[in-house]
Amino acid sequence: MKEIGPVRPVSLYLHFPFCVRKCRYCDFLSGPASEEERDNYIDLLCREIRLRSSEVPGQVDTVFLGGGTPSLMTAAQMRRLMECLSDAFAIFPGAEISMEVNPGTADGEKLRSFRESGINRISIGVQSFDDEELRLLGRIHTAGEAREIFRAARAAGFANINLDLMSALPGQKMDTWEHTLREAVSLGPEHLSAYSLIIEEGTPFARMQLPALPSEEEDREMYHFTRQFLAQNGYRRYEISNYAKEGYACRHNCGYWTGHDYLGLGLGASSFLNGERFKNPDAMDQYRESVLRGDIAGLQQEKELLSPEEQMEECMFLGLRMTDGICIEDYQSRFGEPVEKRFGEVIEKHLRQGLLCSGTVEAGGITQHRLALTEYGLDVANYVMADYIL
Ligand code: SF4
Repeated sequence: MKEIGPVRPVSLYLHFPFCVRKCRYCDFLSGPASEEERDNYIDLLCREIRLRSSEVPGQVDTVFLGGGTPSLMTAAQMRRLMECLSDAFAIFPGAEISMEVNPGTADGEKLRSFRESGINRISIGVQSFDDEELRLLGRIHTAGEAREIFRAARAAGFANINLDLMSALPGQKMDTWEHTLREAVSLGPEHLSAYSLIIEEGTPFARMQLPALPSEEEDREMYHFTRQFLAQNGYRRYEISNYAKEGYACRHNCGYWTGHDYLGLGLGASSFLNGERFKNPDAMDQYRESVLRGDIAGLQQEKELLSPEEQMEECMFLGLRMTDGICIEDYQSRFGEPVEKRFGEVIEKHLRQGLLCSGTVEAGGITQHRLALTEYGLDVANYVMADYIL
């Protein structure tokens, strides 16, 4: 294991761009591939990890294996990857190490092996507990298979499980969404993500004749029901679309919303390090060549150094996604000026309009002053966030 330095912790994101087949609504960088292509990709990923570990001088406190479908990896591939990661980076002993898992791609034995290789949190792509909806979405699994993989994950020792759900589906009514939420809660996961479907250009959904989408009112009704129902069942909303039992907010995603540095590894993965954003190539040939040549510059495409103003804007509109909002003292120590200097007027306006509230929180004997969106502010978050663009 690498020596630990006195630098602030960093997150790692590893992209696994393979799926059994493409879901009809998906525009992520992913697609089907042969066993051999997947194995070659793990080789490349391990090379890239060794090549780039020097970009992260400090400890790693969260790792996220996303995709695509990382659970298509075999147990042996995952062991190889995790060994490579822990040789190359100083991974904090209590690090949150998450992996996306899709029903139909892992059994109990594979999940046990994933757990043994150090993965301690999984995020299951369930989307719906209605088989009709799953078929329409083009998912490869049934609701029964989603329940099965959840139980297998528990039996394999996972004590921190998220279920990803999707509302506002074509033809969806309040009763099927309510059924999905009730089924999800009955399994007792620690965390739930509930996003509304967005029909992306270039996907089959954008070309298909689909059953009618829920109206804006129905969408709002689903959103409000979600919040109330999950609150009644012990899940606190901590971000616009994310809910968790006490102590189970996703540390990796909270890092994104609080401006934490992260290094993205793998095809098309994005990074944000020391105020600079860049990403790996999206094309496999180009990615492979850069990794094989050891060409770090080729892996840092679309480089963009964010100005202090851009970082301040991001701090506001990402931080305000979280129900705890932003800490005024943290803002001041990060940017060397009070939040009112740039945002005083808009903060005043939003306080007056009941979109924002301020308060104090005691954390570890320290009093923090926080600014957060109200329920109403979260409801119209898109409109509110636009006001924080300088
Ligand atoms: S499993 Fe996820 S990443 Fe893969 S095609 Fe479906 S939605 Fe996209």
